Amino acid sequence: MIVGTHRPSKLIIDRSAIRENIKREQVRLGNDVAIFAVLKANAYGMGTLEIAKVAKESGVTGFCVAILDEALALRASGFKEPILVMSVTSIEDVALASDLDISLTMPSVSWLEDVSKLELSKPLNVHVKLDTGMGRIGLIEEDDIKKTLTLFSKNQQLILEGLFMHFAKADSEDLAHFNLQKERFIRMKRFFPDNIKYIHTSNSAATIFRDAWGSNMVRFGFSLYGMNPTGRDLDMPYPVADALSIETALTHVKQLKKGESVSYGATYYTKSDEWIGTLPLGYGDGFSRGFQGFEVLIDGEKAPIIGRMCMDQCMIRLSKEYPVGTKVTIVGKNGDNINTLQDMADHLGTICAEILCRFTDRMPREYIN
Ligand SMILES: *Cc1c(COP(=O)(O)O)cnc(C)c1O
Repeated sequence: MIVGTHRPSKLIIDRSAIRENIKREQVRLGNDVAIFAVLKANAYGMGTLEIAKVAKESGVTGFCVAILDEALALRASGFKEPILVMSVTSIEDVALASDLDISLTMPSVSWLEDVSKLELSKPLNVHVKLDTGMGRIGLIEEDDIKKTLTLFSKNQQLILEGLFMHFAKADSEDLAHFNLQKERFIRMKRFFPDNIKYIHTSNSAATIFRDAWGSNMVRFGFSLYGMNPTGRDLDMPYPVADALSIETALTHVKQLKKGESVSYGATYYTKSDEWIGTLPLGYGDGFSRGFQGFEVLIDGEKAPIIGRMCMDQCMIRLSKEYPVGTKVTIVGKNGDNINTLQDMADHLGTICAEILCRFTDRMPREYIN
């Protein structure tokens, strides 16, 4: 892992935005609902351990991660908060989780049967997943719920710590699928004891747009980082603070004569004598080749990426000559103009989270505030 610190390209993460987003959500939910900060995939590209620290300072109760290694990294750094691994953990790794008080998701009856056969030195905290219409992992049939409850009652090393589900379509105006999932959850939940510590149904979209009904915990990802989980489909009922900006600077500036080509494949030809700037970032940093044509900001003005993105560099068309070293904003404010992550996502036809997950280790993460 080599980080490009001797180059002007960087991701800038504003810790105060994350604090603000967590605090606002906690006020909205009230103190009876616990926020678990979702830190999967390197905390949506922003840095697991740094974001965990900020989230902890802001009063979250625990953390959610996708895979066991992410939980292990948090424990190795001294975080004692509850951690839930939301994907499937292999049976051979379950003892490692129980030793470190890491809670695991139960995806199926057969998984819990296999776990029951293990000799664990410490009890294992389990969150039972119900598949109410996501079609990913979890119990579907009533019969499986009965088998599950029997396994818990017969085995003292298994603790039923949580019961949860995940919405597939909480971010849509069409509520039919949301309501179907909600009804199924309510029906399936009746089979479980009342004293389960954590009941949780909601990701960002569900808690913000649909309320965290019936839950005493939310899994807060997208909006913790300042993103609208619906993209542009629904307006946020309250503003979230953008946590990320992306900056770089011109490393080379030149004028090309009319009719000259730029970059691999010569897909761009100058229409007149044009000032062209070179930026030190490319798809090796996580900027897809699809960003050709995306407009970055320089001196408060838009400047399009022209020609193909290379692995390490790309070119932009300038309105005039600028000195090498002039700041260029990919995401964030520059003069009176502002670029958002959503603009980048729109350009690629994807969602903000995918843009964030693409950034490679070569892009330094700088933390401010
Ligand atoms: C990723 C994930 C979340 C977080 O969702 P956001 O939309 O980012 O808030 C919550 N729950 C599960 C099961 C997830 O996989």
